[in-house]
Amino acid sequence: NKKPRIVILGAGYAGILTARRLQKVLRRDEAEIVLVNKHHYHYLTTWLHETAAGTVDDERISIPIQDVIDPTRVRFVKDTVVEVEKAAQRVNLCHGEPLTYDYLVMALGFESATFGIAGIKEHALAIRSMNSARKIRHTIEARFADFARQKVGQEKEEQLTFVIGGAGFTGIEFAAELAERLPGLCQHHGIDRRRVQVINVEGAPGILNGFDPAMAEYAKATLEGMGVQFRLSTRIQSVDAGGVTLQTETGEERLEPATVIWTGGVQGNSLVCNETFAAARGRIAVEKDLRAPGCGNVFVLGDCSSVDNRQTGRPYPPIAQLAILQSSVCAENVATLIRGGSDLKEFVPFIKGTVASLGKQDAVGEVFGVKLRGKLALIMKAIIDIRYMIMLGSPRLLLDKGKLSTYVMP
Ligand code: FAD
Ligand code: NAD
Repeated sequence: NKKPRIVILGAGYAGILTARRLQKVLRRDEAEIVLVNKHHYHYLTTWLHETAAGTVDDERISIPIQDVIDPTRVRFVKDTVVEVEKAAQRVNLCHGEPLTYDYLVMALGFESATFGIAGIKEHALAIRSMNSARKIRHTIEARFADFARQKVGQEKEEQLTFVIGGAGFTGIEFAAELAERLPGLCQHHGIDRRRVQVINVEGAPGILNGFDPAMAEYAKATLEGMGVQFRLSTRIQSVDAGGVTLQTETGEERLEPATVIWTGGVQGNSLVCNETFAAARGRIAVEKDLRAPGCGNVFVLGDCSSVDNRQTGRPYPPIAQLAILQSSVCAENVATLIRGGSDLKEFVPFIKGTVASLGKQDAVGEVFGVKLRGKLALIMKAIIDIRYMIMLGSPRLLLDKGKLSTYVMP
């Protein structure tokens, strides 16, 4: 008898933890587990704003997949998914042979949502993956190098301007990292710090929409203290090679030249969301057991999925915490189906809270209803990171990658 094949797409938070959980709960003879990811490494998306600003090295946020799975239990395929053929139960890959599946776990993560804004795709940078974060870091460094290359006395009038589009958590965390990086960059290139502007543009009247207002105000004041300027109630209207056009309450305004980092929102991976499976705003509204509607053998996790909060009736935000919690319920449900059961577990998440870093010296958050700021919030952020490293199952990871050295130990 051929073993049923479980194919997991994506080795982000949701995918890698589902693979690890399945290798634990299933016996060898029960199923073949295949994990597909476009890179040989798993990366910590929640640290990408730091690598993008250049305040943390790439190696610290990536972990070889082979180090965290049991290769005798999980077959890892390094390839890029190009298509899921629902009817044929087949996944087409960029390089290798197509993979058929009996059970599919889709965890392909997010992509940047551009809302049709002209020029964002072509001319703005977005924090999306390790490679896109690396591109941002290189671009920032190149802008400084170019600026410094101007001959003394012939400097252009304009300033070195970085525009961050959106003051959600990504925009705020990135702005703080960039502000922290600036003194070093200015010193290295001999540029007066006053000639560098970091401008956060937010369409809403306040930052961190939906977060505790006092905590959001604390974050804003902290960033302003670090030299970040805010343009609230102002929208990015378009971006082009020369700069960016803003829509303010009084009319249009042009910032030129400017390097634009777009942090205006995310959507599910369009490869499967909308294309193969019906999705609203790029996310597939899953059933209570995390299966795609009408698909008995397809589970959708992480940022590709949408789960309603029963209390508010609105979807939970796409966060790693949710992806992590989904992975264990999904693995249990897949195991139940493989064993011929039909009584699947309902996914009822308990979200503990949110903590956002404001550079390496400060943070802000709300955990179990308790508001945190400063050192306490920083320690909580470090605990969250450490806990995840432990989930990934290697004490060595904790020493190599954990933030003990940056956060807790001076
Ligand atoms: P991802 O982590 O995006 O993983 C998707 C995986 O799929 C990746 O490995 C990718 O390489 C792979 N992949 C994509 N396309 C293909 C393809 N075609 N073929 C093969 N493989 C593919 N959430 C929190 O809860 N707390 C935080 O502090 C937090 N901080 C954040 C900071 C930043 C800067 C950002 C951008 C997000 C943050 N989030 C945070 C949100 C969180 O990162 C996401 O919700 C989480 O990464 C979603 O996990 P996932 O497994 O669905 O997808
Ligand atoms: P987001 O959707 O949370 O925020 C995007 C912001 O951009 C919004 O404030 C929106 O008003 C603004 N915006 C949209 N269009 C605009 C325009 N044209 N001009 C100016 N502003 C515009 O997106 P995000 O910050 O990328 O976060 C994505 C997800 O990741 C969220 O669920 C978030 O909670 C999560 N996240 C969590 C953390 C954390 O917990 N520390 C950190 C980063 C991200």
